[in-house]
Amino acid sequence: MSSYNLLMLPGDGIGPEVINEVERVIEWFNMNSNHKFEIEKDLVGGAAYDEHGQSISDEAMDLAHKSDAVIFGAVGGPKWDNVPFEVRPEAGLLRLRKELDLFANLRPAICYKALAEASSLKKELVEGLDILILRELTGGVYFGEPKEITDLPDGQKRAVDTQVYTTSEIERIARVAFDLAKTRKGKVTSTEKRNVMISGVFWNNVVSEVHKNEYPEMELEHMLADACAMQLVRKPKQFDLIVADNLFGDILSDEAAMLTGSMGMLPSASLGAVNPNTDKRNAMYEPVHGSAPDISGQGIANPIAEIASFAMALRYSFNLTEEAKMIEDSISAALDQGIRTPDIMQDGMKKVGTKAITDAIIAEMNSRA
Ligand code: NAD
Repeated sequence: MSSYNLLMLPGDGIGPEVINEVERVIEWFNMNSNHKFEIEKDLVGGAAYDEHGQSISDEAMDLAHKSDAVIFGAVGGPKWDNVPFEVRPEAGLLRLRKELDLFANLRPAICYKALAEASSLKKELVEGLDILILRELTGGVYFGEPKEITDLPDGQKRAVDTQVYTTSEIERIARVAFDLAKTRKGKVTSTEKRNVMISGVFWNNVVSEVHKNEYPEMELEHMLADACAMQLVRKPKQFDLIVADNLFGDILSDEAAMLTGSMGMLPSASLGAVNPNTDKRNAMYEPVHGSAPDISGQGIANPIAEIASFAMALRYSFNLTEEAKMIEDSISAALDQGIRTPDIMQDGMKKVGTKAITDAIIAEMNSRA
């Protein structure tokens, strides 16, 4: 029997609603498998601000460091629009990413068969799509210094952001890419803008070196980020794993995600480096969507992104690949029954709420147990 500690941070808006559903899925594993999950819960975002005056407490951060994985809901909402900038709800999320050093952001774009018709692309282009975008999350132009607006002598202003990466920052994300590729089709597409950016030349060189020295058996392809954006909508199934810096990864992961449908369907994982002493890595799993204040409290939020995020935790933190796949297959089978939450509603389907779609997913899990 194996046991794992999870810290759950439901947050605000629909965060607690979708976290409730993933708890039911986790409870299913506690009842029906040899894997036991201990759950601790704490506050984050606006909920933490209301209680402690900060968007995540030191105690909650401590629990996050000690846990095997953090399962995050969503933060934010109009109630906290005017709180001081440093304690705004999103600051809790950024503190978690920074202090846990979660430098690798994984966003799968999987097109469930039942939703292929709902894509803005032709069905045959996206049906069966299963790609992974790996984004460097803690470096690059979002954090580089100088980052400023200065006054020029002629009365104009001048704004500067700085794109900056070191060898080790690129090496560690490249290693995650190749390690993940081993568990997939063995192919990595690395993107940058080496034609116009010296940091792109450097990115390309470092990824090539890691490939040559450590992963020669893997396939590596380099593609300019703009060409990659174009190919993603032209022929998305040519890709398996795309690795990109913080800026290009931000854009490419949103683009890839929308090939497959609603915000309510998109999971993500953010991983740190493996600690050689414990062989464990910090990790946080969260849906891509926010707190959706427009639908919160109505029982209609789609819980699939949160449930699929837990499946990612099983795969990437606990190496429980079959169990992860079982959840994903159950989601797919529940959708095949023709039930839909309002965000993914299609003609001829039956509209259901948050709990009913989880009921269907759990029933499918029962039939696979
Ligand atoms: P959002 O993702 O919350 O919502 C965008 C749209 O998608 C809304 O129409 C919403 O109803 C819908 N939607 C999102 N998740 C859904 C789900 N699970 N089921 C059904 N429909 C869903 O983005 P927003 O409206 O721009 O932001 C709302 C709040 O969330 C803001 O305070 C924002 O700062 C915050 N936010 C938080 C995170 C996070 O916690 N990681 C991410 C994005 C936005």
